[in-house]
Amino acid sequence: MPNWVDEVEPMTFKGQIAVPYTWWVGDTGSRFLEAIRDQATFLGTRCPDCDTVYVPPRKNCGRCFTALDQWVEIARRGVVTAFTIVRANHPLQPVKSPFAYALIRLDGASVSILHLITKDLARLSIGVTVEAHFKEASQRTGHILDIDHFQII
Ligand SMILES: [Zn+2]
Repeated sequence: MPNWVDEVEPMTFKGQIAVPYTWWVGDTGSRFLEAIRDQATFLGTRCPDCDTVYVPPRKNCGRCFTALDQWVEIARRGVVTAFTIVRANHPLQPVKSPFAYALIRLDGASVSILHLITKDLARLSIGVTVEAHFKEASQRTGHILDIDHFQII
Protein backbone atom coordinates (compact mmCIF):
# COMPACT_ATOMS: atom_id res chain seq x y z
CA MET A 1 0.00 0.00 0.00
CA PRO A 2 1.52 3.35 -0.98
CA ASN A 3 2.25 5.78 1.78
CA TRP A 4 0.89 9.21 0.88
CA VAL A 5 3.83 10.86 2.67
CA ASP A 6 6.20 9.35 0.11
CA GLU A 7 4.38 11.22 -2.64
CA VAL A 8 4.54 14.75 -1.23
CA GLU A 9 7.22 17.03 0.01
CA PRO A 10 6.71 17.56 3.75
CA MET A 11 6.15 21.24 4.34
CA THR A 12 6.30 22.94 7.71
CA PHE A 13 5.29 26.34 8.96
CA LYS A 14 6.87 27.88 12.00
CA GLY A 15 4.55 30.16 13.94
CA GLN A 16 3.59 31.30 17.39
CA ILE A 17 0.21 31.56 19.04
CA ALA A 18 -0.77 33.27 22.25
CA VAL A 19 -2.44 30.99 24.77
CA PRO A 20 -3.82 33.17 27.54
CA TYR A 21 -5.27 31.31 30.49
CA THR A 22 -6.45 31.74 34.04
CA TRP A 23 -5.62 29.13 36.64
CA TRP A 24 -7.27 28.99 40.05
CA VAL A 25 -4.70 28.26 42.74
CA GLY A 26 -7.33 26.76 45.06
CA ASP A 27 -8.27 27.81 48.58
CA THR A 28 -4.92 26.74 50.05
CA GLY A 29 -2.90 28.59 47.39
CA SER A 30 -5.19 31.61 47.69
CA ARG A 31 -4.62 31.87 51.45
CA PHE A 32 -0.85 31.62 50.88
CA LEU A 33 -0.86 34.37 48.24
CA GLU A 34 -3.22 36.59 50.27
CA ALA A 35 -0.78 36.49 53.21
CA ILE A 36 2.05 37.54 50.91
CA ARG A 37 -0.03 40.29 49.30
CA ASP A 38 -1.70 41.68 52.43
CA GLN A 39 0.89 41.11 55.18
CA ALA A 40 4.15 40.28 53.40
CA THR A 41 4.30 37.05 55.38
CA PHE A 42 4.62 33.38 54.55
CA LEU A 43 2.03 30.88 55.69
CA GLY A 44 2.56 27.15 55.62
CA THR A 45 0.63 24.09 56.69
CA ARG A 46 1.88 21.64 59.32
CA CYS A 47 1.08 17.95 59.33
CA PRO A 48 -0.21 16.94 62.80
CA ASP A 49 0.93 13.33 62.25
CA CYS A 50 4.50 13.65 60.93
CA ASP A 51 5.22 17.35 61.73
CA THR A 52 6.22 18.18 58.15
CA VAL A 53 5.73 21.91 57.43
CA TYR A 54 4.90 22.80 53.83
CA VAL A 55 5.72 26.17 52.28
CA PRO A 56 4.08 26.63 49.86
CA PRO A 57 1.24 25.04 51.81
CA ARG A 58 -0.44 21.81 50.78
CA LYS A 59 -3.92 20.52 51.46
CA ASN A 60 -2.67 16.99 52.18
CA CYS A 61 0.65 15.72 53.52
CA GLY A 62 2.81 14.32 50.75
CA ARG A 63 4.48 11.93 53.19
CA CYS A 64 1.58 10.42 55.14
CA PHE A 65 -1.50 11.74 53.24
CA THR A 66 -3.05 13.39 56.32
CA ALA A 67 -5.39 16.31 55.62
CA LEU A 68 -3.66 19.55 56.61
CA ASP A 69 -5.50 22.38 58.34
CA GLN A 70 -2.91 23.73 60.80
CA TRP A 71 -1.63 27.03 59.43
CA VAL A 72 1.69 28.37 60.67
CA GLU A 73 3.56 31.59 59.97
CA ILE A 74 7.02 31.00 58.56
CA ALA A 75 10.15 33.18 58.67
CA ARG A 76 11.27 35.38 55.79
CA ARG A 77 14.75 33.92 56.05
CA GLY A 78 16.02 30.57 54.95
CA VAL A 79 18.84 28.74 53.22
CA VAL A 80 19.44 27.89 49.58
CA THR A 81 19.17 24.14 49.01
CA ALA A 82 19.70 24.18 45.23
CA PHE A 83 20.02 26.73 42.46
CA THR A 84 20.74 27.34 38.82
CA ILE A 85 21.99 30.58 37.32
CA VAL A 86 20.24 31.79 34.18
CA ARG A 87 22.53 33.70 31.83
CA ALA A 88 20.38 33.90 28.68
CA ASN A 89 17.30 36.06 28.26
CA HIS A 90 13.91 34.74 27.21
CA PRO A 91 10.60 36.63 26.98
CA LEU A 92 8.91 34.27 29.45
CA GLN A 93 11.44 34.74 32.23
CA PRO A 94 10.29 36.93 35.12
CA VAL A 95 13.42 39.13 35.12
CA LYS A 96 16.38 39.84 32.88
CA SER A 97 19.43 37.64 33.22
CA PRO A 98 21.65 37.03 34.95
CA PHE A 99 19.59 35.76 37.86
CA ALA A 100 19.17 32.49 39.73
CA TYR A 101 16.24 30.19 40.29
CA ALA A 102 16.79 28.88 43.79
CA LEU A 103 15.13 26.37 46.06
CA ILE A 104 14.97 28.04 49.47
CA ARG A 105 14.08 26.26 52.69
CA LEU A 106 12.62 28.94 54.92
CA ASP A 107 13.35 28.66 58.65
CA GLY A 108 10.59 26.53 60.14
CA ALA A 109 9.68 24.83 56.87
CA SER A 110 10.45 21.22 55.93
CA VAL A 111 10.43 21.73 52.17
CA SER A 112 11.84 24.34 49.83
CA ILE A 113 10.12 27.06 47.83
CA LEU A 114 11.31 28.06 44.37
CA HIS A 115 12.07 31.72 43.82
CA LEU A 116 14.53 34.23 42.42
CA ILE A 117 17.88 35.55 43.52
CA THR A 118 18.73 38.54 41.37
CA LYS A 119 21.75 40.13 43.05
CA ASP A 120 25.15 39.17 44.38
CA LEU A 121 25.25 35.93 42.39
CA ALA A 122 28.99 35.52 42.92
CA ARG A 123 28.22 34.78 46.59
CA LEU A 124 25.48 32.26 45.80
CA SER A 125 26.12 28.75 47.08
CA ILE A 126 24.27 25.87 48.69
CA GLY A 127 23.60 26.70 52.33
CA VAL A 128 23.84 30.49 52.01
CA THR A 129 21.25 32.41 54.05
CA VAL A 130 18.75 34.52 52.14
CA GLU A 131 15.87 36.79 53.06
CA ALA A 132 12.70 37.61 51.15
CA HIS A 133 12.22 41.11 49.81
CA PHE A 134 8.63 41.94 48.98
CA LYS A 135 7.33 44.54 46.58
CA GLU A 136 5.81 47.66 48.09
CA ALA A 137 2.29 47.01 49.43
CA SER A 138 0.70 49.15 46.71
CA GLN A 139 2.45 47.05 44.05
CA ARG A 140 1.41 43.62 45.36
CA THR A 141 -1.33 41.85 43.42
CA GLY A 142 -1.59 38.36 44.90
CA HIS A 143 1.06 36.89 42.60
CA ILE A 144 4.12 34.88 43.63
CA LEU A 145 6.22 37.73 42.23
CA ASP A 146 4.88 39.93 45.04
CA ILE A 147 8.04 38.46 46.53
CA ASP A 148 10.37 40.59 44.46
CA HIS A 149 13.43 38.45 45.13
CA PHE A 150 15.48 36.81 47.84
CA GLN A 151 18.61 38.62 48.97
CA ILE A 152 21.76 36.91 50.19
CA ILE A 153 22.56 38.15 53.69
ZN1 LIG B 1 2.38 13.95 57.38
